Amino acid sequence: MSFKSQRVAMVRDQIKSRGIKNADVVRAMLKVERDKFLPQTLVSCAYSDYPLPISCGQTISQPFMVGLMSECLKIVKNNSVLEIGTGSGYQTALLREMTDEVYTVERYPQLLERAENVLESLGYDDIHFKLGDGTLGWDEFAPYDRIIVTASAPSIPRSLFQQLKEEGRLIIPVGGKYHQELKIVVKKGMVSEEDDICGCVFVPLIGKEGWEE
Ligand code: SAM
Repeated sequence: MSFKSQRVAMVRDQIKSRGIKNADVVRAMLKVERDKFLPQTLVSCAYSDYPLPISCGQTISQPFMVGLMSECLKIVKNNSVLEIGTGSGYQTALLREMTDEVYTVERYPQLLERAENVLESLGYDDIHFKLGDGTLGWDEFAPYDRIIVTASAPSIPRSLFQQLKEEGRLIIPVGGKYHQELKIVVKKGMVSEEDDICGCVFVPLIGKEGWEE
């Protein structure tokens, strides 16, 4: 089966059939070539229903989890979106398909460089990349309409909440090192309205306002 046919099957069987309906998310997942973001040895598994290893001991999340987080963000065109944990760059590409303004932070130079090269080779040439500790956000371009954290934190990093706009949405896995709750946080003044979406397992968010190395 061609990668395109596998992508169509992935969206049908893993995304839409599990309740993800947002038209922008579906369109983006049909378009973005997930196989381009994986190490050569794993491209044949690119459309499988599980997370996969990239390098530096990190992972590209399961397609369903990527779709679910994208849907929960409720991105509106022209929203500014900050992603913490660029990883392979796959989620970054989906975000850029949904809005014009995307900022992404990764702590491993090797991952950031590879993601930047892949994204540029696919024509995504206006994404903003930063190497550093994403638990501190990216103050220079704050506040953001949406923030997505693709690694798990012991609690919601204060800096990220501060860098969210009023009524802005933050999605983040929060909990222990081996099991977490996916949370959606909406900023209402100085307080947050929080909802638990589902249980999940993510690699740790390591940094000043996350886990210790
Ligand atoms: N969204 C990615 C994708 O589509 O491939 C998957 C990301 S992976 C599950 C989590 C990423 O968060 C890893 O690349 C990891 O290095 C990164 N990470 C962990 N702690 C971080 C921090 N403090 N700042 C930035 N990135 C961090």
